[in-house]
Amino acid sequence: MLSDPVRKRTLLRDVNRRIHGVNSSLVEPSGPQLHCECARTDCTERVRVPREICDHVLAEVGTFIVAPGHELGDEQVLVGGATFCLVVPPPADPVCADRRASASLRACA
Ligand SMILES: [Zn+2]
Repeated sequence: MLSDPVRKRTLLRDVNRRIHGVNSSLVEPSGPQLHCECARTDCTERVRVPREICDHVLAEVGTFIVAPGHELGDEQVLVGGATFCLVVPPPADPVCADRRASASLRACA
């Protein structure tokens, strides 16, 4: 299991994009089951997310899909659903800062 929350989130985002990419070629009306992108290094939760949400969020930088209850206290909750939540870490979050430094990615909000 990954010990670094920043690395974990980055890798899971890549995995989730691939899952969504494969799922998009299938007929799965309820959307793909993605890995929870929370900062807990021991989390193995999966969350089912509607396809239209995936299209939007997985293209975003700095917004994460987490299981309900996996939000950290300092994260902004954009959507608090029954099956998934969308959260934004605080601006000082290293994931956000790392990605802000990358010229190929959009800056964090
Ligand atoms: Zn989690």
